Amino acid sequence: MDRRTFLTSLGALALGGWRWNRPTSFYPEILLGQTYPYELPSLPYPYESLEPAIDTQTMKVHHQGHHASYVSNLNKALAELPSLQQVPLEELLARIDKLPASHRTAIRNQGGGHWNHSFFWPLLSPKTQEPSLALQKRLSSEFGSWNAFRGQFLDTAARLFGSGWTWLIKTPAGKLQIITTPNQDNPLMPYAEVQGTPVLGVDVWEHAYYLKYQNRRTEYLSALWSLLNWEKIESLIG
Ligand code: MN
Repeated sequence: MDRRTFLTSLGALALGGWRWNRPTSFYPEILLGQTYPYELPSLPYPYESLEPAIDTQTMKVHHQGHHASYVSNLNKALAELPSLQQVPLEELLARIDKLPASHRTAIRNQGGGHWNHSFFWPLLSPKTQEPSLALQKRLSSEFGSWNAFRGQFLDTAARLFGSGWTWLIKTPAGKLQIITTPNQDNPLMPYAEVQGTPVLGVDVWEHAYYLKYQNRRTEYLSALWSLLNWEKIESLIG
């Protein structure tokens, strides 16, 4: 379905007295393109392949426990909203404030959790990668230098209070910016400090690292940095 057809179909959706409004300012890129019923995606690498940076047990609990439960709870919420079942998850999250109040929090938390983790897994790679010179140049031009970008990203993640995510986003104006979101919110949502398209997301919930790193979040972040799939990130930046 092309975007125009899709938006027209969105404009026609209605739920009782509640009507789905066509997007006005922010048009999310459809990165996962999934609709209900949602499924737990397979990891693009074996559980043990990120050792020693991320241990096998953490990967299993994170994927089969945490992520799987976001999927099943999202499906439970949407089972009660047939008119939203064909709307891609990105659109639901981008217009989360327009969803029926009865299901808004469930879709925000569980839908955000499913989207964030589905986006996160392919950003990691067992194969150590160096960012290309073109990518280093692009990020240097926005943040001053590659090291300034790395420092700002990791500091922001280390300082995030409580559970949440740190993101590199592309704003609608095409600028790259580092932001954080609490809980399972993400930059597609209107609650984000700046709405934009995520090109990198790092999970800083304790469940992502506590078994191995306990309270040493900065050690987890440095280890995770060495696993980043820069080829994927560069393709998302476009
Ligand atoms: Mn997580």
